[in-house]
Amino acid sequence: PELARSAPPRRRLALSYELFPARSEASFDRLRETVSQLEATAPDYVSVTSRTGQANLDRVLELTEYVLACTDLRPLVHLTSTGSTRGELELVVRALLDRGVRGLLALRGDVEDAHQADDDEVPFARYLVELIRAVERERTATLGAGRVSIGVAAYPRRHPESPTRRHDIEVLVSKERSGADFAITQVFFDPADYTDLVTRSREVGVQLPIVPGFVPATDPRRLHRLAELSGVEAPRSLLHALETARDDAARRRIGVAFTVDLIRRVLDDGAPGLHLFTFNRHAEALDVLETLDLDRWSAPAPHTPTTGDPS
Ligand code: FAD
Repeated sequence: PELARSAPPRRRLALSYELFPARSEASFDRLRETVSQLEATAPDYVSVTSRTGQANLDRVLELTEYVLACTDLRPLVHLTSTGSTRGELELVVRALLDRGVRGLLALRGDVEDAHQADDDEVPFARYLVELIRAVERERTATLGAGRVSIGVAAYPRRHPESPTRRHDIEVLVSKERSGADFAITQVFFDPADYTDLVTRSREVGVQLPIVPGFVPATDPRRLHRLAELSGVEAPRSLLHALETARDDAARRRIGVAFTVDLIRRVLDDGAPGLHLFTFNRHAEALDVLETLDLDRWSAPAPHTPTTGDPS
């Protein structure tokens, strides 16, 4: 009877934040504060980035263990295949699962132009998904351990090494077939790029939720750096407005307004939620969230079947 009287189902938006591990004790202090501020918004998880070759594994574990032990948050740990052998990757996956991690983002990592994967390296993210599933199967058989949720990367703009956007979608199909559960996108600044990726992915049978990733676009230097890393350029008009803004407060207003408008447009188009690349800064992320007002998209589902006599 309680259930029957409860509100009709609402569209549930996923919310998550990306954090990178601290590089020093002082920055870990600031990071703890950021985690606590973000936790207040009840995200589904926080993701923890990692460097290729497990170069900062101790720092990744430090942040992951902190999240598990000292907060109610769930970590999604990024794992990159480049620069590690298959055996090393299996060890890292086991170490993370032993600590209670149940969410992994399977990535290849960025490679130098001349990089040739060794025979013992896992060359593409889809094979890392398979490796994680194999470790999971072995543990389920021996320990009865719980299922692992595996995310992968998707690209609304073409991946810089990819010949075409069609190829990117074929790669996404292969990641789903290998056992991925969801995808998070690289940054983009035009909502049509995201919508196009989703439409074209659905046309070839991809069923994964594709969660759009956003950077609070308040800092022009960060946007330039992101363009170098990802090949995705912010609009010139936005960069110009940020670079000529009167002061930091004005820059923040401009960047938050731009970001909120972008997020609104993809949520209006049906995106399943949002993932914010925070660069370990909670103030801008919280500004975006507050201005966005997610309740706007949590309207009752349009087709709520009414069964039985409500009286
Ligand atoms: P893949 O899916 O393996 O694709 C890499 C390239 O190979 C693409 O061009 C693809 O088209 C091509 N390709 C794939 N399969 C095949 C095939 N079978 N044959 C031929 N070509 C193929 N990097 C980090 O180092 N640390 C992080 O923490 C991190 N976090 C990220 C989080 C998100 C949400 C995103 C979107 C990216 C992140 N990255 C991170 C960057 C990522 O590692 C790079 O974009 C990397 O260049 C590609 O990773 P991928 O997992 O998409 O690789």
